[in-house]
Amino acid sequence: MGEYRTLIRSITGHITDFIVPLKCVGCKTLSTILCNQCKTRLFDECESCLFCKTAVGRGVCRTCTRTLYLSSIVSATSYKHQLAKTIITQYKYHGVRSLAGVMASMMTNALGASGGALHHPLVIPIPLHRLKERRRGFNQSELLAALIAKTASLPKIEKNVFVRTRKSPPQVTAASADEREKQVRGVFIVRDDTPIRGRDILLIDDVATTGATLKEAAKTLKNGGAENIHALIFARG
Ligand SMILES: [Zn+2]
Ligand SMILES: [Zn+2]
Repeated sequence: MGEYRTLIRSITGHITDFIVPLKCVGCKTLSTILCNQCKTRLFDECESCLFCKTAVGRGVCRTCTRTLYLSSIVSATSYKHQLAKTIITQYKYHGVRSLAGVMASMMTNALGASGGALHHPLVIPIPLHRLKERRRGFNQSELLAALIAKTASLPKIEKNVFVRTRKSPPQVTAASADEREKQVRGVFIVRDDTPIRGRDILLIDDVATTGATLKEAAKTLKNGGAENIHALIFARG
């Protein structure tokens, strides 16, 4: 039954991909999947630390960097825009995979504009639990990571090296940052540390609200021998 449902979902995902691109998800005009005007509306100048909200560039302050293992967090937009929420919902839950291209290009542009000194980082998507991935039909972060790695000519980690061993509830359901932290504690493991040892990492995710998932992933990768860990996300909270 599960397999059947996955198949249907996968087919409807492809059909949606085929039909929707003519209409902008923002203003519904016949255009591209996200027209230039709507893209401009998503611009976000937010430069505070995701964790302690101190006003700084790079998305994470120095104090938080020391304890959280994240050297920088760059985001393409903010979750405070209703349109950013719509894009995530359409992409992630309604199977509009054709949004991945525009999301990835916005993320790559944001990374370029941030001017960070990244040393040919290894691109790593935040893994989904395999059952969740099977149910959804795809890992939203994996698809973004593949496109970003291709555009920026960066290496991407092989699947099954960095994995999620436990399912956790969607991050939007957590009541607080503390609760979210508890939900994600110990959910990731590094199966093989060879590819990550001594490497700079570019972690990819679609959304970061409390930052707990990024934090946990960064900790796991750091313990696995990674050097500097940067995060690139589509929308931040
Ligand atoms: Zn539009
Ligand atoms: Zn901070």
